[in-house]
Amino acid sequence: MYIIMLGAPGSGKGTIGAEICNEFGLKHVATGDIFRNEIKNQTELGKKASEYISQGKLVPDEITIAMVESNIKDLQGVLLDGFPRTTDQAEALKAFMKENNKELVAVINLNVPDEDIVKRTSSRVICSNKNCGASFNTVFMPPKVEGICDKCGSKLTKREDDNPDTIRERLQIYHDQTEPLIEYYKNEELLETIDIDIYIEDIKERTTAEAIKRINERNH
Ligand code: ADP
Ligand code: ZN
Repeated sequence: MYIIMLGAPGSGKGTIGAEICNEFGLKHVATGDIFRNEIKNQTELGKKASEYISQGKLVPDEITIAMVESNIKDLQGVLLDGFPRTTDQAEALKAFMKENNKELVAVINLNVPDEDIVKRTSSRVICSNKNCGASFNTVFMPPKVEGICDKCGSKLTKREDDNPDTIRERLQIYHDQTEPLIEYYKNEELLETIDIDIYIEDIKERTTAEAIKRINERNH
C-alpha cells in the first residue's frame, strides 16, 4: 500500500504523515529528511542537494527520482512525504510502481492558504535527532518544554530554509511545479483534498482523523 502526501511546504505533510504511518504500518519516506541527512553526513548527494535546498529550489528530478527509488524498492507499505513534486517525478513514480506491482491507494492533499503557510513555517522548529524528526511550532503547536522535543528529549532547531524569503521562494515553486499534480491525481481518481484552518485548536487530530477516514473508505 502506497500513500502520497501532497501540499505546500509547511502544510503539515510530515506531522500528519507520521500519524498515518502509525495507523497503517507504513514506512515514512520524506525526501526533505533524506536530503538533510545526506547534507549532515556530507555525502556526494548531500553536497549536490544542498546548493538547491539552501536557495529554496527543487533538487533536479534525475537526482531525486533515483534517490527515492533506491529508498523504496524493497518496501511494501510506504507513505511518500514530499515526493512527487513535479509532473516528471509523478510519471517516473507511476512507471516504477507498475514495474514493481505496487498500488497507490490515495493522494492526500493538504490545502492551506499561502498567508497561513508563511506564518506557520516561520515559527516551525524540528527535532535535531534524525531518527525522530518530529516537528513543532512555537506559536501553533508548542512543545511541552521550550526547545526540547516531546517525543525523544533532543534539542529542537530551526531549519535553515525556514526563513520568510526562502519560504516565499518555496511557495512560488510549489505553485508553479507541484500544484499541477492536484489535477494530475484528480484525473487518476486518487485525490483526497483536506482544507486546513491553522487556527483550529485540535487541527492535527482532526486532519489526521479525516485523512485516515478517507484512506479507509478507498481501501474497502
Ligand atoms: P517542505 O515540504 O517543508 O518544503 P521538505 O523537507 O519536504 O520541506 O523539503 C525541503 C527541500 O528539499 C525542498 O525545498 C527541496 O529543495 C528539496 N526537496 C524535497 N523533496 C523534493 C523533491 N521531491 N524534488 C525536488 N526537491 C525536493
Ligand atoms: Zn525528537
